[in-house]
Amino acid sequence: MDKTASFEDAADLGGRSSAGADAILVSPIGPIDSVLSEAVCREVQRIFGARVRQEPLLSSVEFALDLERRQYHSTRILEHLAKRVPPSTLKIIGIVSVDLFIPILTHVYGEAQLGGIAAVVSTFRLLEPLGPVKAKADLASRLGKEAAHELGHTFKLRHCPNPTCIMHYCRSLRDVDMKSLKLCPYCRVLLEDEKKRLAKQKLRQPQ
Ligand SMILES: [Zn+2]
Ligand SMILES: [Zn+2]
Repeated sequence: MDKTASFEDAADLGGRSSAGADAILVSPIGPIDSVLSEAVCREVQRIFGARVRQEPLLSSVEFALDLERRQYHSTRILEHLAKRVPPSTLKIIGIVSVDLFIPILTHVYGEAQLGGIAAVVSTFRLLEPLGPVKAKADLASRLGKEAAHELGHTFKLRHCPNPTCIMHYCRSLRDVDMKSLKLCPYCRVLLEDEKKRLAKQKLRQPQ
C-alpha cells in the first residue's frame, strides 16, 4: 500500500444551487473506457432514479493542471463543468483519469459542489492495487460508488457514519470496497426530500 493518506473528497461549499431540471449528465473527459462510463450511468440511474444522459462537454482538463504538484485541481474542473451545462440538466458528473487534488489534501477521488450542480470523479487512485489489467469490473464498481457519492453531495447529502452507505467518507480503497452500492435509509430519505424540493422549484420557474 502506498504511504500517502487517502482522501475521498472535501465537498466544496461554494456550489451554486441547481435549477430543478431533467437529466443527470455523465460526462467523460479525455480517454475514458466506455465500459466504465456506462457502469457509472447505470449506478447513477439506479441510485438517483433520474434520467441519465452521457455527453462529453470538455475535451481535456489541462486548464486545471498545477505545475508544481503535477496534479489537477478538481475545484477548477467543477467550475468549468458548471459553466457548460446544457439546459435541462439536473446535475453533471465529469469522469477523468488524471490525479485530482484540492489544496488541503494530498489527493481526492473526486469532488462535488455541496447542493450545487457539478461533481467530478477520477479513476486514477481507484486503480490501486488492481494492477494494469485485473478486474475492470472492480474498477467499474469503485467508480460507480464514488460517482454516486459525489453526486449525493450535489443533492445536499453530507458524510454518513454508516460504513456501508454510499455517503460514507472513505479514507482508503479498503473503505471504498467495504461500502455497498446503496444509500442507507437515513440518506435515502434526505435524497428523496431534496428531489421533491427541486421538482417543486422547477414547477415554480417559468419554462
Ligand atoms: Zn464526500
Ligand atoms: Zn447514509
